[in-house]
Amino acid sequence: MTDVQTFAGPADLHLHSNQSDGTENPGQVVRQAHAHGIRTVALTDHDRTTGWDEAGHAAAALGMTFIPGMELSAKHQWRSVHVLGYLFDPENTALRAETGRIRDDRVGRAERIVRNIGRDYALSWADVLEQTTTDATVGRPHIADALVARGIVRDRSEAFDGILHPREGYYEPHYAPDPLTAVRLITQAGGVAVIAHPVTSGRDRMMPLAYIEELIAAGLGGLEIDHRENTEAGKRTLRQLAAKHDLIVTGSSDYHGAGKPNLPGENTTSEEMVARIISQASGTAPRYP
Ligand code: AMP
Ligand code: FE
Ligand code: FE
Ligand code: ZN
Repeated sequence: MTDVQTFAGPADLHLHSNQSDGTENPGQVVRQAHAHGIRTVALTDHDRTTGWDEAGHAAAALGMTFIPGMELSAKHQWRSVHVLGYLFDPENTALRAETGRIRDDRVGRAERIVRNIGRDYALSWADVLEQTTTDATVGRPHIADALVARGIVRDRSEAFDGILHPREGYYEPHYAPDPLTAVRLITQAGGVAVIAHPVTSGRDRMMPLAYIEELIAAGLGGLEIDHRENTEAGKRTLRQLAAKHDLIVTGSSDYHGAGKPNLPGENTTSEEMVARIISQASGTAPRYP
């Protein structure tokens, strides 16, 4: 259990930098959050923690509270599931091994997608590398940026609605643990696990409630309910579930810089819920101003 000191509000707990698929470096992300009125900020790059130090320094310089985080890739059957982890120990061996495995497999998978696309469009792996910060977690957003640079699509959204959509036939999956494993890894590393945007494309894409209850039994701390991609009906279902199990409820922007229309602070997390995250975590301390 961590001491909860006075932290600055309002809080946005889900933002990406160019350490994964955001377009800005970690310091810029924090400064953008500040410019949008945010005073407690988390950095949650996909499957990596390398942005923490830079983001933490930027937050300190602005008198903000910094919550180190990550968005861990998982998969339930065919569904991609994202599990946010907060305040876990970044040196935890099991978690490090798993994120390393996911990142490694993402590279080969991205190369396979590019090879598939290259059969029909003028796109090469070198184009993707040009769009990717050294060492960043590679994903379809970088392929989207390469398609934009090549003039094949206008923006990331058009790429995801078209060429990168699984129905177009170029898609390849990457390795990811099941959500139960993801929740256990984060929790055992002293972190708090929160399911990101659990109802993005309608009810048929949501994990079955009984499975979410298994995750809760395994230590799941909370649900990200206020997120622009959650459906209104889904939010109602999730609020009932959160009340039933006394879960943490968060709201966040999922900012990706210029990569998505999402803006810092478009959804926020209450002070009470930030305090619950901090007090439940034991892996690493928040960086207070
Ligand atoms: P991947 O993990 O490589 O399959 O890519 C999924 C990532 O693409 C997610 O983390 C999202 O941030 C991003 N993404 C998904 N849909 C869109 C979209 N319509 N526009 C921009 N980015 C998107
Ligand atoms: Fe992303
Ligand atoms: Fe996500
Ligand atoms: Zn995200």
